[in-house]
Amino acid sequence: MSRSSIETVGVRYTGWAALNRDPLEDVVEYTCPHCGAKGAKAARRPRSAYHFTDGFLQDLQGEAGTCRECKQSLRVAPVVLVHDRDEQRRFNAVFLADLDLSKN
Ligand SMILES: [Zn+2]
Repeated sequence: MSRSSIETVGVRYTGWAALNRDPLEDVVEYTCPHCGAKGAKAARRPRSAYHFTDGFLQDLQGEAGTCRECKQSLRVAPVVLVHDRDEQRRFNAVFLADLDLSKN
């Protein structure tokens, strides 16, 4: 899968994965494709926008945001809903392996 340079995958934790977090805080976490800073933005899209794709609930349209570090606009897509340990592991394997490779 090829992505344009201003797109980055986002992850939205829910259920078990969000147990340690303020329940009122519903954010999409991402890594800025411009500067590599970790960021988070309030999740705006409803759960109904998420569809089961490749074994994950994903919002393929994603959300637009701005990096707090470098102030550049970016697109967070897809946004992947992760709700338990098993999904967390699979998310890391499928999505983060990709990102690590491109950084090196
Ligand atoms: Zn940035």
